[in-house]
Amino acid sequence: MTKQFSRRNFLSASSKAGLTAVLVGAAPTVLVGQGASPDGKPALLGGTPMVRFSSSSWPLLQGDEEKNVLGILKAGQWFRGYRNEGMVADFEKEFAAMFGAKACVATCNGTGALIAALSALDTGPGDEVITTPWTFIATINSIIAHFALPMPLDVDIDTFQLNGKLADAACTENTRCLLPVHIGGVPANMDDFVAVGKKRNIRVIEDACQAHLGQWKGKKLGTLGDAGCFSFQVSKNLPSGEGGAVLTNDEEFAERIYRCHNNCTGRKTNALDGSYAMTRAFNFRMAEFPAAVLRAQLKHIEKFAAIREENGRYLNKLLSEIPGVHPAKIDEGGTMSGWHLYMFRIDPAQFGINRELFIRAFQAERMGIGAGYRAVDWVDVVRRSYDTPAGRRVFPKATLDQWAERVGPLPQYKILGAQGVWFTQNVLIGPKTNMDIIADAVRRIQKNAAEIAKV
Ligand SMILES: *Cc1c(COP(=O)(O)O)cnc(C)c1O
Repeated sequence: MTKQFSRRNFLSASSKAGLTAVLVGAAPTVLVGQGASPDGKPALLGGTPMVRFSSSSWPLLQGDEEKNVLGILKAGQWFRGYRNEGMVADFEKEFAAMFGAKACVATCNGTGALIAALSALDTGPGDEVITTPWTFIATINSIIAHFALPMPLDVDIDTFQLNGKLADAACTENTRCLLPVHIGGVPANMDDFVAVGKKRNIRVIEDACQAHLGQWKGKKLGTLGDAGCFSFQVSKNLPSGEGGAVLTNDEEFAERIYRCHNNCTGRKTNALDGSYAMTRAFNFRMAEFPAAVLRAQLKHIEKFAAIREENGRYLNKLLSEIPGVHPAKIDEGGTMSGWHLYMFRIDPAQFGINRELFIRAFQAERMGIGAGYRAVDWVDVVRRSYDTPAGRRVFPKATLDQWAERVGPLPQYKILGAQGVWFTQNVLIGPKTNMDIIADAVRRIQKNAAEIAKV
């Protein structure tokens, strides 16, 4: 996970270790166990590391990328153009079909997908958008880009997702949309958001940038609300370097999103047709090259998702048995998780040491892990963002004070910000025995927490 190894090094080292690993894709995720005893001393206290070496390359080449990219390069049609054919258009059809959505608009990245979707709803100065505080900053940025106010709901400490039970009370006449995020790929409770959206006639946009192929009650995440936004940035579960898309089942809404991402020009018109006074628009078009990579990758994402689902659920079970370790729970409605991040929480009172020390101890076992999103003071961020001439005109101090009061202290979010840890999705692609090694490492760190605390 931290060290990169070539396939050749991997093969020789793993055969020396007497282990066979399951090979998936061109460069598998590998953890080679040392044979160190799970009951032995943690590496941080001088024991033998649980892992001899680890490697987890990402992205994984699947085979057709080179042919597809060279085809575009030589053909000379490098942008999607005013046609409904080519790599981008074909990718849109294939992506929508795989996810069971009526329409797809590909974009240059996930942030652009979010900004275009919010723009298509006429989101503007003074509007409020309900979302989660525990997210990648792009979610919040897409709201601020419209001079709107994020209204963060506190998180559900079990699932790590925004708490849908708080959504209704957070709505006001200024609420433009609900923007639930499936952070880490774990499904947010879509029943809650769809119900509030219906009751109040407010649109629901899902930030599914980390949630490819996750499901809520059998439906793919990103297709349960009015639109779902995806990212294909290289770390994501469907990578193309940079890229994004919006899915929707509403063809008219799709056309509005298309115009917002294409400088007002619709999909069906071949040039500016004069009807562009609809809303603010941008150029967030996807170029043909990332689409060429995406079409090659798309054919393989379902099999990786199935492996992550099996390993992730198994690891959830193993880690839940360790005192003070709380993996992000998948709600009963979450028929499949998106597994972009494998997330859990270290409760120092039960575990014996805090997150920072746990990370040090885990890394000493030669596996990669990192702290989750720290708790950010979003009220302060927003106040500073709107401390400009325009910001002060749109949001007088009293307005921001009232909003800050409604945001409140977000206590569960602060706990998660202090206790959350994760590793990346590629660690879940590999043999099931890797999950045992990870759980063994966590277990022996916990058993020796009192000693580690003295380090
Ligand atoms: C990655 C991500 C985005 C933004 O996507 P980009 O393609 O990086 O612009 C938005 N929201 C979440 C939750 C993300 O993880």
